[in-house]
Amino acid sequence: MTATLAACLSGMDKEVVIIGSGLAGLTSALVLARRGLPVIVLEKSKQMGGCLQTFYRKGVKFETGMHYIGSMHEGEILYRMFDFLDIRGDVVLSRLDASACDIISILDDRYQIPNGEEEFTDAMLKLFPAEREGLKNYWAMVNEVARTSPVSVYMDKGYFPLLKEEFINQSASGFIDRNISDVRLRQILAGNAPLYAGVRDRTNLYTHAVVRALYKDNAYRIAGGSDSIALSLAKSIETCGGVIRTSAEVERINVEADRAISVSLKTGEKIHASHFISTAHPARTLEMLDTPLIRKAWRERIYNITNTVSNFTLYLKFKPDTMPYLNSNFFRFNSGEIWEMPLKCAQASFPQQWLYMHLCSAPEQAYAQGAVVISYMDYGEVEAWHGSKPSRRGDDYEEFKRKKAELLLDDLERHFPGVRNAVEDYYTSSPLTYRDYTGTERGSTYGMLHDCSMPLETAVPKRTKVRNLYLSGQSVYVHGILGVMAGGIDTAQTVVAELGRK
Ligand SMILES: Cc1cc2nc3c(=O)[nH]c(=O)nc-3n(C[C@H](O)[C@H](O)[C@H](O)COP(=O)(O)OP(=O)(O)OC[C@H]3O[C@@H](n4cnc5c(N)ncnc54)[C@H](O)[C@@H]3O)c2cc1C
Repeated sequence: MTATLAACLSGMDKEVVIIGSGLAGLTSALVLARRGLPVIVLEKSKQMGGCLQTFYRKGVKFETGMHYIGSMHEGEILYRMFDFLDIRGDVVLSRLDASACDIISILDDRYQIPNGEEEFTDAMLKLFPAEREGLKNYWAMVNEVARTSPVSVYMDKGYFPLLKEEFINQSASGFIDRNISDVRLRQILAGNAPLYAGVRDRTNLYTHAVVRALYKDNAYRIAGGSDSIALSLAKSIETCGGVIRTSAEVERINVEADRAISVSLKTGEKIHASHFISTAHPARTLEMLDTPLIRKAWRERIYNITNTVSNFTLYLKFKPDTMPYLNSNFFRFNSGEIWEMPLKCAQASFPQQWLYMHLCSAPEQAYAQGAVVISYMDYGEVEAWHGSKPSRRGDDYEEFKRKKAELLLDDLERHFPGVRNAVEDYYTSSPLTYRDYTGTERGSTYGMLHDCSMPLETAVPKRTKVRNLYLSGQSVYVHGILGVMAGGIDTAQTVVAELGRK
């Protein structure tokens, strides 16, 4: 009997309901739909994609939460993952400058970060000749993490192993400090911290190393926007018979005995299924669940996990053909306290740091149409508008954002003289924007912080006490393209295995 027929005979609407159409939800949906399972993805927003959403202003398309990817050369990990999910052909890439993929600017100094372990090591040894041994240890660790990571093992052997304890119970900052003596080189190695909102003594080594490994040998912008990833996944899901519904906010997961039986949408509609995956932020999922199976202590543990810091983003629209395309990412730090910035950004003068990236509309473009400048921002700064809804937050909120935007532009101008003149218009987003468009707790950029000082307490398991309800997404696995896709596959395969046992 086919799975579709089985679902129809049992009176179910669908075999699997997936809450959230971000990268995790779409990846899980594709894996399940390919198996012929009737799957429906329910998305609260008007646009699917979660962090892959894009928006247009005056003809320029802006990305909101996926700006560059790496390991995209033949045989590399993300290349293989894209092939596995059949998206490579739909995503146009534009390579960042191999000799200065990232530029790290700390106080008065700038450092070009080239692709390639050897190239990076040679460049750093010219500046820090005594650090050969430390850099050797650093790369050995990064390569070991990459080689043994669950996603690598999955792509090679077809199963997901557990994360190695030594990578999740030691901190990224601690490892770097133990192996590198020079304070400036430590800061340079921490310079990619905004890609995971790294915090001293808390962010685990694994998170740092998977990000470093992903971009080590090559890095690419997604020409035309990151929504192409979501659109490609959606096309394949629908080809396999899966359904994606937007403007479909799940309000409740209905549980009977030890199983979920249906979800209730905000509209009042109920959708039944045999299995459920929630890729919403775990705190959001808990709000949908009212069952004694979820004990108070568990609920509190999840609510108490610190979330990675949120951000303020400035979206710049440039005057046509005025701003030469910057084919590097520019990481700026106004102090050397890189690991302290996420938790202390509310107390410090704004901005403490920012990441400046030009948007890529097409490969080899001469001029940029737009850019983003992303800076850490604590949710507390926008708490006054906690109860507000998008576009209806009031003039004082608009003024708050305008002031922040001007401060950010001033600082940008100091490092890129003339940029202000090239800006035709700008737009902004705050922690409230991320909260409302992706449902993430307090607008957190990358979901929950996997804290090496309490690895167990800050881990969110994919299984719940509701037997047929699973969790996935960036808070459950690792944030970012690779971790979230791998998590989406893992969760879907767990459901497939369960269905096989029925
Ligand atoms: C500013 C920023 C920049 C980033 N840059 C990069 C980058 O350059 N490279 C990279 O690899 N990663 C980057 N990331 C991280 C990456 O985008 C995320 O880790 C990943 O996309 C998260 O996917 P997800 O599916 O777990 O969550 P999300 O994308 O947040 O998806 C969750 C979805 O669930 C929906 N939802 C929530 N509640 C409900 C409900 N009740 N009913 C229905 N739907 C619901 C939400 O609307 C959302 O669409 C960035 C993230 C941010 C925020």
